[in-house]
Amino acid sequence: MNFDLTQEQKMIQKTMREFSQEVVAPGALDRDRTKEFPVDIFRQLSEMGMMGLPFPEEFGGAGADTTSFAIVTEELSRACGSTGITYSAHISLGGAPINLFGTQEQKEKYLPQICSGESFGAFGLTEPNAGSDAGGTQTSVKETDDSFIINGNKSYITNASHAKFLALTAVTGVKDGKKEISAIIVPTDADGFTVIDNYEKMGLHSSNTTELVLEDVKVPKENLLGKRGEGFRQFLITLDGGRIGIAAMAVGIAQAAYERALSYSKERQQFGRSIASFQVTQFKLADMAMKIELARTMTYKAAWLKDQGRKFTKEASMAKLYASEICMEVCDQAIQIHGGYGYMKEYHVERFLRDAKLLEIGEGTSEIQRTVISREIGAY
Ligand SMILES: Cc1cc2nc3c(=O)[nH]c(=O)nc-3n(C[C@H](O)[C@H](O)[C@H](O)COP(=O)(O)OP(=O)(O)OC[C@H]3O[C@@H](n4cnc5c(N)ncnc54)[C@H](O)[C@@H]3O)c2cc1C
Repeated sequence: MNFDLTQEQKMIQKTMREFSQEVVAPGALDRDRTKEFPVDIFRQLSEMGMMGLPFPEEFGGAGADTTSFAIVTEELSRACGSTGITYSAHISLGGAPINLFGTQEQKEKYLPQICSGESFGAFGLTEPNAGSDAGGTQTSVKETDDSFIINGNKSYITNASHAKFLALTAVTGVKDGKKEISAIIVPTDADGFTVIDNYEKMGLHSSNTTELVLEDVKVPKENLLGKRGEGFRQFLITLDGGRIGIAAMAVGIAQAAYERALSYSKERQQFGRSIASFQVTQFKLADMAMKIELARTMTYKAAWLKDQGRKFTKEASMAKLYASEICMEVCDQAIQIHGGYGYMKEYHVERFLRDAKLLEIGEGTSEIQRTVISREIGAY
């Protein structure tokens, strides 16, 4: 067994740590306030070749592995959760289904735009009445000889304002009394397609979260992604990979909160000594460090299994569940160690907590992760 990162992974980690400290972190507090989407950061990430990191070189990607993707997501999230989720969704929800299930023509048409950063990647599964129960999709399709005509609504879709196209799920028919759900690639400038960006969120303020309205949106049948009726299965596979991204985000945010708490505990003097000299603070920090170490190990293991072509559903779900839950605990303790200052925006840790909460909800809530794990271990 070898727990060392490869030379390439170490290089990506070093590059991204420096980039995040120098470019991403300085404006994070401001963007949280202004809700400004970090366009310039992503322009630079495109130039660095990060936007297509795990995709094949023939489509403009860098052909890197999933561990490298997790490292980039972790390092970005350490500086800014909004930048982290934008990147994670771009790769694992936007690009991945096209890479996994697209035809050669679809990959040639869409992946280069993802890899160059010309289009952000996005993925439309959730609807007003279909969240955890994504099989309850109501978005409907009527057919002509050569087209799909789509009607419906999607909720909370990340990156759609900056995407030129996205894959979404829709009901293409009924088979044996069950909805036949398919994935269809839809250009965001199609007639009848509206992207609404006006959610008021708790955190991740500079990420883009949108509602999609589709009114008689007509796309050619060649835009079907993968096999007809397999949209639901494809999105479950896509989410397995996406959960590694969410876990990596959680590790990054928790690491940032822990580091700030550690350094503050040494500076802050009370009762004539640093608060770090109280054993209660030391034990809090020790627990934080231990949980982050475990969450990171679980995340990298899930990524490694994926790269080996092995089954990783259970491990990705466990990593996402554990990392997101410890991230909330670590952020909470980081605020506690900061006392009243921790409640103030300029100390960053309250932003980390607000950003972290989404990680227990998105790409399957904690309850749904426990359902997935129960099924995987045979407890049903
Ligand atoms: C900021 C943000 C970004 C997002 N980005 C995207 C995106 O890019 N694409 C996309 O498709 N979606 C996206 N989502 C949607 C997200 O994946 C859903 O919010 C999530 O899956 C939960 O669905 P829901 O909100 O409808 O909650 P519900 O499914 O209504 O759940 C409500 C509560 O009931 C619980 N619950 C539901 N069913 C069960 C059950 N069977 N057993 C036990 N408990 C249950 C849940 O765990 C939860 O606690 C995003 C959400 C947010 C907030």
